[in-house]
Amino acid sequence: MRLRNVTGSDEKIAASKYVIKEPETKKGRWSGVFGNADPVHIEVGMGKGQFIHGMAKENPHINYIGIERYSTVLLRAIQKMETEELPNLCFLCEDARNVTEIFAENEIDRIYLNFSDPWPKDRHAKRRLPSRQFLDRFGRILKENGELEFKTDNKALFAFALEELEPAGWETDAVTFDLHKDEEMVKGNIMTEYEEKFSSMGNPIYKYIIHKKKDV
Ligand code: SAM
Repeated sequence: MRLRNVTGSDEKIAASKYVIKEPETKKGRWSGVFGNADPVHIEVGMGKGQFIHGMAKENPHINYIGIERYSTVLLRAIQKMETEELPNLCFLCEDARNVTEIFAENEIDRIYLNFSDPWPKDRHAKRRLPSRQFLDRFGRILKENGELEFKTDNKALFAFALEELEPAGWETDAVTFDLHKDEEMVKGNIMTEYEEKFSSMGNPIYKYIIHKKKDV
């Protein structure tokens, strides 16, 4: 998702108090950024931020960090914060490839991936956020009992994501092939922008919740 014609988005991001600059300098010290010892959850590829803003509003005792690589998209999340400021939410304008430079081992309690870009060509598989390459990065920053949640309407991407678990050393805690009709898994579900769009077209939403195997 890349929004066009947003003039001065880089300057606005640079000036925004909601965006943490030089996040590598906070590695191992993210609790200090929020000024409390509450758990830290991150969303990688948050887009315009509807999901993470909703989560932060519903869970004031969890700290949330939204990561989005395009400033033009991140700008929309900032605008949402300007309308409704939340003390437990901040943003990073970063590529997720850098997560291990930004967060220390065992620093993150939960990771969310929502409607990640499918990168349909085989040669781009390692750019997919649920790929083994990204799971390796995510596994290094996640606490031992931490979980990762992924949802998408893309059947091929979800099949790929499930196949990556074994070689990456992760296993499922829960899986659904139709989230909105799954009474258990849909509890507390907050819709993302893409989820609203694709579920309104009748697409089922796939979701898994996974954790790293202990002996890996
Ligand atoms: N999560 C939102 C939703 O469900 O509505 C947005 C989905 S959109 C298809 C995927 C988003 O992930 C885009 O905004 C894209 O820029 C971002 N993204 C993809 N790869 C990324 C990466 N490696 N690092 C940071 N952001 C990434």
